[in-house]
Amino acid sequence: MNDLLVPAANPKSNYLAHKDEIDQAVLRVMEAGVYILGDEVAAFEQAFAKYIGARTAVAVGNGTDALHLALRACGIGPGDVVITVSHTAVATVAAIELAGARPLLVDIDPVSFTIDPQRVAEAIIDFKSRASNGRELKAIIPVHLYGQPCDMQSLTHIARAHGLRIIEDCSQSHGAMIDGQKTGTFADVGTFSFYPTKNLGALGDGGAITSNDPELAQKARELREYGWQRRYISDIAGGMNTRLDPLQAAILNVKLQYLDAENCRRRQIAAAYDKAWSPGDLVLPQSREGQTPVYHQYVIRSQKRDRFREFLLSKSVGTAIHYPMAVHQQPAYYSRVMVGPGGLAESERAVREIVSLPIYPQMTDEQTQLVVETIREWRY
Ligand SMILES: *Cc1c(COP(=O)(O)O)cnc(C)c1O
Repeated sequence: MNDLLVPAANPKSNYLAHKDEIDQAVLRVMEAGVYILGDEVAAFEQAFAKYIGARTAVAVGNGTDALHLALRACGIGPGDVVITVSHTAVATVAAIELAGARPLLVDIDPVSFTIDPQRVAEAIIDFKSRASNGRELKAIIPVHLYGQPCDMQSLTHIARAHGLRIIEDCSQSHGAMIDGQKTGTFADVGTFSFYPTKNLGALGDGGAITSNDPELAQKARELREYGWQRRYISDIAGGMNTRLDPLQAAILNVKLQYLDAENCRRRQIAAAYDKAWSPGDLVLPQSREGQTPVYHQYVIRSQKRDRFREFLLSKSVGTAIHYPMAVHQQPAYYSRVMVGPGGLAESERAVREIVSLPIYPQMTDEQTQLVVETIREWRY
């Protein structure tokens, strides 16, 4: 995979681009002698909250735990139902179950690949028209998939009308904006993953919760560390141990300074791909008016997806599929999840047609050009 001229992803190139600063930061942490939380984590939380434009950030062990704790901090648990998409990382749905709640999956808008607000509205009305068996609809988790913001205006409107919480899954949208406002600030709470290939990636696992609600943030803070309010005194039962490591915090503090420039570079590569297209069966990603996407992935559709991938591979260009199965199709989930009244036909179609082209900030102009030329040679 890594001996390709253009691999599908290359997190090591991002480390190498900032090697000196990162190495120094890591040494500093090791020599300071504080290996859990402490100043490094607090500094990252402040810097990240400021970057996102939220009042507070709570740094946790990974993106799955960020979602899980955000749900619990919102008071969501057993007996509750949470609406989200099936076309997402399985972690989104796994986190709902970790909190003890049940996922209700709705379809995506086929152009943006993000949750279709119309489907959300239909699912709410359908849910409320049925005998609920004591279950209560509590929240919506929109996923800003591939770095494309969801239609937050419509979703906020629907959530308000029905008294639902919104938890934004921003694990692929660090820095993405709608009308200049960053994802992670549109709702009650936002959650982030710092998995190494994400737009802001650690050299290991990491995650964060952003919120403007101090009470909610405090609850998440306690839940990440045994339910402690003060040291050794647990206020909340079922506390976890899911803290961001200070080594990762120090690394993220370095990388955060480059996030805007690196997102910009991703948009440049995306613009080069946008222009590469000769008419054919390939369908390009599109952004809505007012949106600033961050291209965590550049995802196109093809009816001949598998042949297209083989062709690219024959020219030493790697690709990936995010994701090869919708959550409701996975062995662990197909008999468990609830599905909204409109079904999941668009999610199932996406899974058959999508392919992610290489896009990462350290991709060179030569590598970008090779992908562009290869696409131009593709014959349907
Ligand atoms: C990566 C990701 C997660 C999970 O994050 P981890 O840090 O791997 O636990 C959740 N949701 C989405 C949309 C993701 O892309």
